[in-house]
Amino acid sequence: MTNIIIFGAPGSGKGTYSDEIVKRYGMGHISTGDVLRAEIKAGTELGKTAKQYIDNGQLLPDSLMIDILASTYDALPKGQGVIFDGFPRTIAQAEALKAMLAERGDDMGVMIELIVDEETLLARLLNRAVEQGRADDNEETIKKRFAVYHAQTEPLAEWFEGEGIRHTFTWKGEKELMLGEIFDFLDKL
Ligand code: ATP
Ligand code: MG
Repeated sequence: MTNIIIFGAPGSGKGTYSDEIVKRYGMGHISTGDVLRAEIKAGTELGKTAKQYIDNGQLLPDSLMIDILASTYDALPKGQGVIFDGFPRTIAQAEALKAMLAERGDDMGVMIELIVDEETLLARLLNRAVEQGRADDNEETIKKRFAVYHAQTEPLAEWFEGEGIRHTFTWKGEKELMLGEIFDFLDKL
């Protein structure tokens, strides 16, 4: 499988669809949010830094994230394709990803954009707070994450458009429907 960048607002289903895609096509998966939460759990220096940003709904500095991404990518098996979940989130991260992959003779593959209305996003995140107890899934931090998403991440969709790899999927109320549309697209690659 080619590389895949899965893109969308907090709660749009990046992690959920990534897991389904990995099951179907057997590729690597990098979730930068999961990497950072593992560092927090392990109590590392990076985890301590990450916690300050995450609990406040802010993005970590690009330079730090780019280093984490490159070392995580290099630790994965080659040639199976990787799904990038939660990265890039800024134009600088996107430019760095493109350059990092080009240096290794790889490319970004396709970008899958998940469009979900904000009412659904909020309901999902509040529900996840109950089920998984993520510290940043409280209403105050969620509002900050939405604002950060609109200001810093959403403009990237146009950047991907310019790269000619943006493919948009819109939530119509059913997970199986959305997943079917994504699989139909990926099956043809
Ligand atoms: P969801 O898990 O529902 O997709 P999300 O996109 O907000 O929601 P994660 O991707 O798990 O959640 O990220 C959680 C937090 O980790 C972010 O709010 C941010 O603080 C930090 N983070 C994750 N990836 C990055 C990144 N690429 N750049 C900067 N910060 C990041
Ligand atoms: Mg996630």
